[in-house]
Amino acid sequence: MELDVGACLFAPEEASACPEGAIGFSAEYRMAAGERAGLQSPDGAVALARALEEKSRRLFGRSLRLRSVAAGSCNGCESELTALGNVVFDLARFGVQFVASPRHADGIVITGAVSRNMSSALYATWEAVPDPRLVIAVGACAINGGPFRGSPEVGDGVPGDLPVDLWVPGCPPHPFTLLDGLLRLLGRLESR
Ligand code: SF4
Repeated sequence: MELDVGACLFAPEEASACPEGAIGFSAEYRMAAGERAGLQSPDGAVALARALEEKSRRLFGRSLRLRSVAAGSCNGCESELTALGNVVFDLARFGVQFVASPRHADGIVITGAVSRNMSSALYATWEAVPDPRLVIAVGACAINGGPFRGSPEVGDGVPGDLPVDLWVPGCPPHPFTLLDGLLRLLGRLESR
């Protein structure tokens, strides 16, 4: 049996549906992985994201600008991304900020299951970001479609030809999970 944290909606019904009672919830917030497969394991353990290679860290480590792309989301993930800017999390103190234009960005943050009517906008936004660029998938929807998985109106998450650098699970992810993943990617957090 395999537990896919990326597909998990973190709903009580998911735990109660397990006949062995093997699924439970904890206060662990460190769950962002660098690889999609890092979210899948027999016991729910996550292979946490590793730091970008040195050249990318030199480019992004002190100043990272991100453009958010809401590709068919419910606004839950955007609410938590917005919370990163409040006085509690204060993402800007780490040199990470959201910008309005992809041409001013170093990468995109994708939320939502990628609805059909947002697909071309997503690609256009990604192509407008200058190389080298990062792709960050936030939330169960972006990772595998979330509660909309299988609908003919969505693509079940970020398309396979977009190279995702960070997978942040949750429905929605906690701001600490987002912050932890970003800081790991930038090499600011090394150990668990
Ligand atoms: S992952 Fe959950 S909170 Fe985020 S957009 Fe999808 S349904 Fe909404």
